[in-house]
Amino acid sequence: MHEMSLCESILDILEQQAGLQQYQLVKVVWLEIGALSCVEPAAMRFCFDVVMEGSLASKARLEIINIEGRAWCAQCAKDVVIEQRYDACPVCENYQLQINNGEQMRIKELEVE
Ligand SMILES: [Zn+2]
Repeated sequence: MHEMSLCESILDILEQQAGLQQYQLVKVVWLEIGALSCVEPAAMRFCFDVVMEGSLASKARLEIINIEGRAWCAQCAKDVVIEQRYDACPVCENYQLQINNGEQMRIKELEVE
């Protein structure tokens, strides 16, 4: 489950930022998860609670913002929505799509104290 190590990196960032931005407690973490990022939101929630235990974010709430997967289809000359990385274009079924959104997983915002 790579969500565990992703949560560990999130905790690293939270701890680094705590020093820089002078906060002691993290209350809410807004996390953007792209549909094509291979990150499972349910697994993320589970790991988040496990990893944050005993840290400055032990009581933090995790808010997940789902970002849809989008790709450019050169054949249709259109931006299309796809659900998975290797999906075909929903319009023309061409497989040569250039993904342009939905691969990211990042902290969008924090509420701290
Ligand atoms: Zn197409």
